[in-house]
Amino acid sequence: MSHIIRFKIKDIQPEKEVVFKEFGIPKIDLVSEKIQQLYSEAIKVFRETSKPIVIYSEISKEKFQNIFKGEGNNSAETPVDKIFPKADNLILFALTMGKEVSEKIEILFKENDFALGSMLDNIASLSADNAVKKMEELAAKDTKNHEENYLILAYSPGYCGWDISGQKKLFEYLHPEKIGITLNDSFLMIPLKSVSGVLISRKSEIHKFENNFSFCSLCKTKSCLERM
Ligand code: SF4
Repeated sequence: MSHIIRFKIKDIQPEKEVVFKEFGIPKIDLVSEKIQQLYSEAIKVFRETSKPIVIYSEISKEKFQNIFKGEGNNSAETPVDKIFPKADNLILFALTMGKEVSEKIEILFKENDFALGSMLDNIASLSADNAVKKMEELAAKDTKNHEENYLILAYSPGYCGWDISGQKKLFEYLHPEKIGITLNDSFLMIPLKSVSGVLISRKSEIHKFENNFSFCSLCKTKSCLERM
């Protein structure tokens, strides 16, 4: 059975410092008055237009195996392949910041307002990442197993060898269209500021792996290192 919850904006809005760090500015003192005003304007638009919501459902390993196989386009070996069979619990999820904020970003770029568009785009992306972290925290609270080294992490189609076409089966199971998320022909989610994936819970050791898969050489973020 699936569940739907709405996030409070204040729970997922990124810290000001984090937003500027994304633009390569390490300290707020270094930000000009003009850019500070731009940030304030973007936050105002973000609060007015974002409606963050998630749909999620527990799933058995057997059913997840079929979803993860997707259309057969995954890399031969992936982190998820290695991790999910050892999991205690699996939860499929899809979340979105909503249609209005994504459309507003597109409009700003079309109108050549790149400064406000980029700031809003950045804030919405960081908020979607925070919403994923919130899901990880909520799943951790729900778990019956409160061992110290217990860890719940999200993995998404389109990353780390899980081909983006994996969205097809994930959507067939979870029906994110119930909260307004659809897939286009390239398996990209509409609205754009959306994230889907699986939350895998188990002792933290299972999330540790050597990041030497065939696709890792092309990875710019190496974000797995922060999470392990
Ligand atoms: S290095 Fe990049 S692609 Fe490889 S597992 Fe880590 S995050 Fe994924």
